[in-house]
Amino acid sequence: MTPKRTYHTLETLTFDNRFVRELPGDPDMANTRRQVTGACYSRVTPTPTADSRLVAFSPAAARLMDLKDETCQSDFFARVFTGNYLLPGMDPFAMCYGGHQFGNWAGQLGDGRAINLGEIINQRDERWMLQLKGAGPTPYSRTADGLAVLRSSIREFLCSEAMFYLGIPTTRALSLTLTGEAVERDMFYDGHPKLEPGAVVCRLSPSFTRFGNFQILAARGENSLLQRLMDYTITTDFPHLGTPSQEVYEAWFREVCKRTMDMILHWMRVGFVHGVMNTDNMSIMGLTIDYGPYGWLEDYTPGWTPNTTDAAGRRYCFKNQPQIALWNLGQLGNAIFPVVKHLEPIQAAVDDALAYVQQGQNAMMAQKLGFQHFEPASDAAIIADLLEVLQQVETDYTLFFRGLSLLTAPEELSENKVPSFLETAFYAPDRITRAQVMRLNAWLALYQKRIAQDKGSPGDRRQRMNRVNPKYVLRNYLAQTAIDRAEKNDFSRVWELLDVMRKPYDEQPDREEFAEKRPEWARHRPGCSMLSCSS
Ligand code: AMP
Ligand code: MG
Repeated sequence: MTPKRTYHTLETLTFDNRFVRELPGDPDMANTRRQVTGACYSRVTPTPTADSRLVAFSPAAARLMDLKDETCQSDFFARVFTGNYLLPGMDPFAMCYGGHQFGNWAGQLGDGRAINLGEIINQRDERWMLQLKGAGPTPYSRTADGLAVLRSSIREFLCSEAMFYLGIPTTRALSLTLTGEAVERDMFYDGHPKLEPGAVVCRLSPSFTRFGNFQILAARGENSLLQRLMDYTITTDFPHLGTPSQEVYEAWFREVCKRTMDMILHWMRVGFVHGVMNTDNMSIMGLTIDYGPYGWLEDYTPGWTPNTTDAAGRRYCFKNQPQIALWNLGQLGNAIFPVVKHLEPIQAAVDDALAYVQQGQNAMMAQKLGFQHFEPASDAAIIADLLEVLQQVETDYTLFFRGLSLLTAPEELSENKVPSFLETAFYAPDRITRAQVMRLNAWLALYQKRIAQDKGSPGDRRQRMNRVNPKYVLRNYLAQTAIDRAEKNDFSRVWELLDVMRKPYDEQPDREEFAEKRPEWARHRPGCSMLSCSS
């Protein structure tokens, strides 16, 4: 028998604020922008807002806190998670971190618009830090306002939960609320600021520590504090590694490398592009964090970046993600060197991470293709050829692999037209030339030969493929449709998308519309194909 579940009310949540208890804080309590040295955080309270109105909450995330849906539907819940009321046991603070932005050291950044409320321990003895994003300025806000707008908050709320259901390590989102205040944003930094509805997302994560938390301490030569933060992180978030020691530091760094690369492999599998892989946006736990100008590959274009700020350099485009993760790991390695004291194990871990992600990409592509194993002799060429075929005409990354699972070998292939099981994957099936069809067919013939070598029926292969190739992803235009309606006070689409994205690998026959490729209206629409960091 499963033990009976008991629920908490907001007042009976169990707080255990270990981060602030065990690590040194900034003695200055004023909420003024400044450089904070010798500390891991500053205490700061959320700024009260005119109103607090619930847009949506995630029932699954509420369950992580042992909360019932009814609790989340109350006005009191909206007040608490917009930052207008502190529950007993909350001890709010903003973290100090630095980071490399677009490859350049940027010095102190910190939680400029995130305020951690405290850590709860749930019934399963899990630790979750609660964090409000957009609840007002902190000592780390620099020249910005500490606020967030509805459009970007909907994107963060939905994508955090969608990633979780895809099986990808991520921070979670409990709630999305409106503050009742207008926030000015110049969406494309082109001198056209607009007032937008202000919003707050409550995020949950075992830890919000980033590579940049270690980097800022190393950059300032605060080596004993750096060691304290490493010890804290290992004992709290990596307890299986044992008591911190030289060997444990090395094992920890190896594990951070592996977790980071596992996360990247998931991103590559589902076509997720983070958009701002700065070292301050890299979680030490290997979680996807900070959903800003992210995007989902629609047509397969390896050089695509959703972030207009990155359009010129394309540093953070889809195909670069493994290599950027490696670079970021190198920066983390540099930061922890004063404590690890030996370069060789750090370098070895980074080298191994490269080999790991390269092998991982082969294995992942083999899985996407439904092979039982990656066979180097044949499969490297099949994959390389496929990646070229996917680029000869606009081809939807998600729909192509879903469609391919429907192939029942041996299939008749016509020279004049793309096979029917792949038709929906092409953005302009009528404009595909005969030569392009033949090129596709040549690859499909290779593929048919290859799958014939594997044991198992086409049905088995389809099942395997559909477990790794999602049918439903949070396409850029889908999130935008939820934003358009929510800006008119209709939140139903936010709820609907949250529900669809709960079963991304399943067929949902009454929800085919959410699996459709990007419609033409969305091709150049801001928010669908172009995003900026302005949020
Ligand atoms: P990002 O790359 O968007 O995750 O943010 C980079 C840095 O800018 C972080 O230190 C953020 O806290 C800070 N930041 C972003 N937007 C704001 C804002 N509206 N107000 C204050 N700080 C912000
Ligand atoms: Mg960030």
